[in-house]
Amino acid sequence: MLSQVVELIENKSSFAITTHVRPDGDGIGSSLGLCWLLRSLGKSAEVIVRDGIPAAYAQLPGANEIRQVTEVNGKYDAVFVIECSDLSRPGIKNLENQLTVNIDHHATSEHFGTINWIDQTASAVGEMIYNLCKAIGGRISKEIAECVYLALVTDTGSFHFPNTTERTLKVASELVKVGVKPAQISEAVYNSYPWSRIELMSQVLATVKRSADGKIAWMRQTLEMQKNAASVDGDNNGFVNIPLAAKEVEAVCYMREVQPNAYRVSLRSKDNINVARVAEKFGGGGHKNASGCRVEGDWTTRESEIINALTEAVAKNGDDFLTI
Ligand code: 5GP
Ligand code: MN
Repeated sequence: MLSQVVELIENKSSFAITTHVRPDGDGIGSSLGLCWLLRSLGKSAEVIVRDGIPAAYAQLPGANEIRQVTEVNGKYDAVFVIECSDLSRPGIKNLENQLTVNIDHHATSEHFGTINWIDQTASAVGEMIYNLCKAIGGRISKEIAECVYLALVTDTGSFHFPNTTERTLKVASELVKVGVKPAQISEAVYNSYPWSRIELMSQVLATVKRSADGKIAWMRQTLEMQKNAASVDGDNNGFVNIPLAAKEVEAVCYMREVQPNAYRVSLRSKDNINVARVAEKFGGGGHKNASGCRVEGDWTTRESEIINALTEAVAKNGDDFLTI
């Protein structure tokens, strides 16, 4: 919990911070925000990740110092693990031998850390980093503010997903007060893609189908499409949300071929439809309205299994939500 994290920071001096493979805005923004906070307290800190940083986040202060590694190869008093359901999610070896601090806002987190701080009410881990800064008596510098703001913007879909709360907006307002320029960050995140994103989007959207009642939509992205579009990592950010723009659509399944016969699945839903439960059935996890998993085998078979599970979740319409 938070008090243990504060105590650990006060008593130790050298830290690494890591997040999941294919990092998203919350993973990177929160990691860098925490890094700046630790440094401002006179500690040594660095961010280590397995994968490259998507261009949309590369302008964040400190992003150029992030080290890409395949194993923990420094000497640290503790390693912070941001937004990871388990210790395999960072894709970095030798984490088992470290003192780890698990910081997450997912209901599905396995409590793998030496210390575990899970706050399901936080819209993003970024919001938790802000709370940590306040709890430890730190000052919200412009660097911390920009990193945390990017985490909030990306995890709340620019403050329009249901995880956006009064507290999220209050934190965002504090961040703007110390110098964040919202339009500048939105421009970098949403309007700075290469043209390949548009090429890829047009091919993926051409595959979209929906159920007879129109409540469930699904679409595919093949390796071939990626090749045709000459797409780069991150080009498909947010594709899964596009079909939700139709009023009657309540759940979306977006399957992306990552190697022949292996697919990453992204699920999204509106209101009380619980797609975390659907992802869990297939070995993944996430939130009520945004979840994911990885499946293998025949594409059409797996896709119909997932659509069947989504159909069940839509029919339940949150009946099982309170039991999470
Ligand atoms: P996305 O669709 O953006 O990849 O993921 C949506 C949400 O589901 C994220 O919050 C992410 O953490 C979670 N998620 C995606 N894939 C997996 C997975 O394979 N395992 C778990 N536990 N969570 C996942
Ligand atoms: Mn997050």
